[in-house]
This record gives sequence, structure tokens and C-alpha cells, in this order.
Amino acid sequence: MTSNLYDRLLAGAASDQSICIEKDDGTALSYAELAALNGRFANFLASIGIGPNHRVAVKVEKSVEAVALYLATLRTGAVYLPLNTAYTPTETEYFIRDAQPTLIVCDPREEAELRAIAAKAGGRVETLDHRGKGSLVEAAADFPVRFETVARTTDDLAAILYTSGTTGRSKGAMLTHGNLSSNALTLVQEWRFSSKDVLIHALPIYHVHGLFVACNVSFAARARILFMQKFDAERILATMARSTVLMGVPTFYVRLLESTDLNERSTANMRLFVAGSAPLLAETHRAWKERTGHAILERYGMTETGMIASNPYEGSRIAGSVGRPLPAVEVRVTHPETGAMLPVGEVGMIEVKGPNVFAGYWNMPDKTAAEFRADGFFITGDLGKFDANGYLHIVGRGKDLIITGGFNVYPKEIETEIDAIPGVSESAVVGVPHADFGEGVTAAVVRSPGSSVDERAILAALSGRLAKFKQPKRVVFVEGLPRNAMGKVQKNVLRERFADLYSGRA
Ligand code: AMP
Repeated sequence: MTSNLYDRLLAGAASDQSICIEKDDGTALSYAELAALNGRFANFLASIGIGPNHRVAVKVEKSVEAVALYLATLRTGAVYLPLNTAYTPTETEYFIRDAQPTLIVCDPREEAELRAIAAKAGGRVETLDHRGKGSLVEAAADFPVRFETVARTTDDLAAILYTSGTTGRSKGAMLTHGNLSSNALTLVQEWRFSSKDVLIHALPIYHVHGLFVACNVSFAARARILFMQKFDAERILATMARSTVLMGVPTFYVRLLESTDLNERSTANMRLFVAGSAPLLAETHRAWKERTGHAILERYGMTETGMIASNPYEGSRIAGSVGRPLPAVEVRVTHPETGAMLPVGEVGMIEVKGPNVFAGYWNMPDKTAAEFRADGFFITGDLGKFDANGYLHIVGRGKDLIITGGFNVYPKEIETEIDAIPGVSESAVVGVPHADFGEGVTAAVVRSPGSSVDERAILAALSGRLAKFKQPKRVVFVEGLPRNAMGKVQKNVLRERFADLYSGRA
């Protein structure tokens, strides 16, 4: 066995008849069938010259065949490059030009567009649709199922994932076979995964959460995956009786809580609910515990590092905390400017080092150098603190920190106070240009259904609870918070929307 991630996760799968993936339409695929499918794809890829370090860019809907293509790419030694299906043609062109893939696989609906891009930037184009049909499958149909997986070392590249890039250009995070296998195998242990598990998979597969956490962990444990095209609360609830684990972004849990069918009985067969990719409100954690008896296990990670910290499987899962660093992962909190280590309880920059930390940004040596300390720690850009029990608490992205009148304001502190006010469903706090203060603390608030809570009531509730400089200068009511597909609030969108709020031009 080499260090190729495929071997680490799926060695021996070719003779394993147990179910690997069940699809939306009720049909299922065994581990052996998945191995045969990706073997066929790998033979096809090799036949068109794809091998170590070639990039395979994939912009397709979720399907079993897309998963097989991911695995086939690993087996050839090439680098898998998933692209968010929501990217516009201009964004897609940027990624293709930047990554120079040998092969681009896209949805048939986008074929003309991708061919036009490939004509300029290079690369061969094949198609694959959400039902698993397309020119890729046709081209691979007559190839043999056996494929000799290409040997790779832990330092060889397995994937490039572009970060969501809410500011500036997206960066391609280069992940190695070692990064991905160490993280998957650690999580199997930490979260007690086994072949008895049945995972509800409703996440997209172009992101670290749905692909590397959900799929890799399940494969390594030989668990069964219930593959859902998209999030559907009723379907998930109906499936829980025969499932054991759900992995979701916080929005999944908020939406599931809206259903009256969510209770101890409907979740009795479940052993684990995992949340991550965006902050889970302490309120959601508590409400879930009250309704189901289960404490959601919140974990923290990012594209560049995979998973960094997790609440414990056994032991206290603390609402509002992302738990302790995973085994072999070092986490420290430092002064954002000086880099000096900060004591327990103080908020600073979260830095990470370990086998999970990526190899750098594709084609961006300067950006890479700027985000690593000399001793190898990666500067995550997230602000947080450790508590006395060694649990990490995230207070937000560094770039979301508000500096008003020379004081630092952490949006999360304000949001937590606002969310606790009756009549408030959720909130997001941002800093926007303000002539006197530099930045004005500004709250976007979503009312709970039927509530008529107003700006005055919110400001009154906060006075006495927060120091004057932390109190919002304005509260703006919105129908909903802008979120990306992973449930992250897009604060840049709010900052743009409120840019003129204090200039008199709004
Ligand atoms: P991505 O690279 O798209 O996975 O985004 C990573 C970022 O999501 C992190 O740097 C954090 O800012 C945020 N994030 C992920 N998990 C959590 C969590 N449990 N709580 C708060 N923020 C999180």
C-alpha cells in the first residue's frame, strides 16, 4: 500500500459487497461497484494521458459518478479540482486559466461555455449530469474495471480547492495525500465511525465538508452513505429512523428545528449530529438538546487545513465552542500584529500546525509565505480564544473585526446579545464607514415570525448589557441574512449594502 489517499481509504474495496452509497432514487451501489466504476474512469483518464500532477477540474452536480471521478483522479495520481456549481462563466474562466487542468468535466448544460473557455485556456472537455450520464461515462464504458493505483507519497498533491474568496481573488489551496488521509483517519477515531454507520449526506461535494469530511470518513470506516441531492428537512427527518449520523452546516439544524416532527422519537436511532463550516448559535445547540436529547457536536475547520478542532465524542460538548484541537494538530492563539502567544482567555489570531495543514496556495508563493509563520504555523485569519478547559471559542474572522473610535469590537459578542432579545430570530453585526468613529457598529436583524421588535427596543435592551462603544449605532431590519451555500453569513454583502448608512447618502 502506498500513501495514495485512495489506498488509505479504500484498499480492498473491490471485494467488499457491502453498500457504500444509496441514491435519492432508492438504488444502491456497493463498495465493489464503486471500485469498479472508479477503476473504469481511472483507465479512461490514463488513456488520455492523465497522470501524476495533472489537474482534473470538475464542475458538476452531485452524483455517485462525480464521487467515482474524484476517486479515479486520485488513483491516477492526478489532482482533483472541484468547482462550485454556482460559479459564473467569468469566475470559472479564472479558475481554469489559473489551474490549467488537462481535463474539465462539466454539466452538459454548460458544455458550450466550458468549451469556449477551454479553447482559450486549454484542456479537454467531457460532460457529466446529475443523473450520472454524459460523455465521460460513455467514453469510459468499455474500459476495464481493474486499475493499478499510482503510488503517491504523503507530500504529493491530491486536490486543489479554491477558497471562497470573499475579499480579493480566490486562492487554490493545495492539499496533499497526507493532509487528507491524516484528517480522515483521525476523524474516524474521534467520532467513532464504523461499518455500522449510516450517514445522511445532504451537503454539496465541491467543498471540504461534503467531500473530505463526509465522504472520506465514511469510506475509511466502510459506512453507508445516504446521498441526497440537496437539503430537504422532511426527507432527512423521514430517513433518521434508519440512519446514525448527520453532518450539516448550522442552517440544516435551524431548518430541522422548524419541523414539529423533530423530537426524541424521530432521532432515537441517531448517534451523532455534527455541525461545522459556520458558527452554530449556542441557542440552536440548546434548542436541539431540549427537543431531541442529543448534544450537537460542533467542529471547526477550513479548506486549507481540513478539520482543526472538535468537541469530544465522550465528554462535554460545549455550546458556542468548537472543542479541543484534534490529535496531532497544534493550535495556538497569538497577538495578531506581533505573533506573540497569548494567555488563556485572551482573544487573538488562531494559528495551526500539523499533518492536516495544506502545502500552500497554487501559483501564489507570496500569499503562501505571508500566511505562514517562520516556525510553520498557518495563520488562519480566524480570531478566537482558549478557555480554562482547553476548549477553543471562535469570535469571527479577523477581517470582520470592527474598530470603532480606536476600540476593537468582536461582532459575535454583540450578535449573541442581540439574538437573546425576544422577537429576534438572528443577527449579523458589521462595521461600516463612519466619519467620527472610523467604523460604525451596525446590526442587521431578522425578526422572528410575528414579532414587531423595533430598533429602539433593541438598543434599549443592549444598553447596560454592552459597553457604550460596542452598542450598534444603527439597527437595520432585513428579511434574511445573505448566506453562501455552506451557510456562512456574507458580511461583505452587508458591508456593501450599508456602506452609505452614516454618510447621509443612504
Ligand atoms: P471554508 O474554507 O469554506 O471551509 O471556511 C472556513 C472558515 O469557516 C473558517 O476559517 C471559519 O471562519 C469558518 N468556520 C468553520 N467552522 C466553524 C465553526 N464551527 N464555527 C465558526 N466558524 C467556523
